[in-house]
Amino acid sequence: MTVRAVRCSTLFDATGAAPVRDAVVVVDGSRIAAVGPAASTPVPPGAETLDLRDRFVMPGLIDCHSHASIVPGLGDQLGQLCRAPVPQALAATRNLRADLAAGTTTMRIMGEEHFVDIEVRDAIEAGIIPGPRLLVAGRGLAPDNGHGRALTSYDGVDEVRRGARENLRRGANHVKIFVTGGVSSPGAMSTSSAYTREEIRAAVEEAERAGTYAAAHAHGGAGLRLAVEEGVGTIEHAALAGDEDIALMIERRVWLICTFSIFMHPEGIEGGDGQRPAIMDKVRWSRRVADERFPRHLASGVRFACGTDSVHGRMPFELQTLVRFGVSPREALLAGTRWGAEACRIDREVGTLEPGKRADLIAIDGDPLADMAAMWRVSHVMKDGETQHGASGRDHR
Ligand SMILES: [Zn+2]
Repeated sequence: MTVRAVRCSTLFDATGAAPVRDAVVVVDGSRIAAVGPAASTPVPPGAETLDLRDRFVMPGLIDCHSHASIVPGLGDQLGQLCRAPVPQALAATRNLRADLAAGTTTMRIMGEEHFVDIEVRDAIEAGIIPGPRLLVAGRGLAPDNGHGRALTSYDGVDEVRRGARENLRRGANHVKIFVTGGVSSPGAMSTSSAYTREEIRAAVEEAERAGTYAAAHAHGGAGLRLAVEEGVGTIEHAALAGDEDIALMIERRVWLICTFSIFMHPEGIEGGDGQRPAIMDKVRWSRRVADERFPRHLASGVRFACGTDSVHGRMPFELQTLVRFGVSPREALLAGTRWGAEACRIDREVGTLEPGKRADLIAIDGDPLADMAAMWRVSHVMKDGETQHGASGRDHR
């Protein structure tokens, strides 16, 4: 196996340690063997050198919430999910390449039809197509009259169980359930629960029985609280969450997965559905509420990470928005790496640059701790110890 010595100008390992100047990461095959100052970290004889001495090096980004096949700029996201499997797979192939190029080495997929996400995850693992390492949900569980319903719906405790079990049997990594209304569909953005307590509990139970967890789409209010009370691991979006919702999440140690790009970035919902007043009213409302409340939420002590929700390649926007809302640049980088790994329960494998972990790292032209806009300049991506060729474009905006 190849041993490589990655030389870095500045190393941010995301462990909480201070950045190290003039550092080296020793990569043995797909794993990290050693990390530290170049002057004191032994490099095995014969190691290849990867010279990134003019770059800032950090762990690969973890996008905790996306969809492989969706491009929000095309509009009607649920309609996009209803396309046939081949167009879905082709769209996913293009989208995931853009995510990888922008520095995302791990991505959690939060619902696809036809189990396309499972096939795509396996194709990436087999080296057939480039892309981030995927954690997938299979079909999102949504009630017939709820947000998130695409080709299939699951109503009643038994159908929720069957849906969760089918996803898990086919190889899903976690279970996704839609609890409240949403921004991108025309219906009311209700924060009451579209599912009963018993239905939510069934999804959580089936996930836990299979050794994993359930994640809930919930914007706030009664639906969010029901999901938290019934034991979901992550709350997705929470754009309308109030202080009492966040307090309950803190108490139950539930992760908040922020998804700012999808309703704030011009290439998000606005890009594709900007002409639909029923949707744009909700976009503007969510922006107003989030601008007012997120600075407080993010300082509350709730554990948070972030995701682009299909705005492919836009993780830097997520991190910039965290900073705009008062999060320190250091913590924004942690949210994009280690905290994302913890939220997705893969922190033993990825999220920090430490011996034994997967060699997923990115190099940046500039210093994101001084200016988060540097995150748009990812110029080298390594995943599992391999340089991702074709993923070294500059300035992905
Ligand atoms: Zn989503």
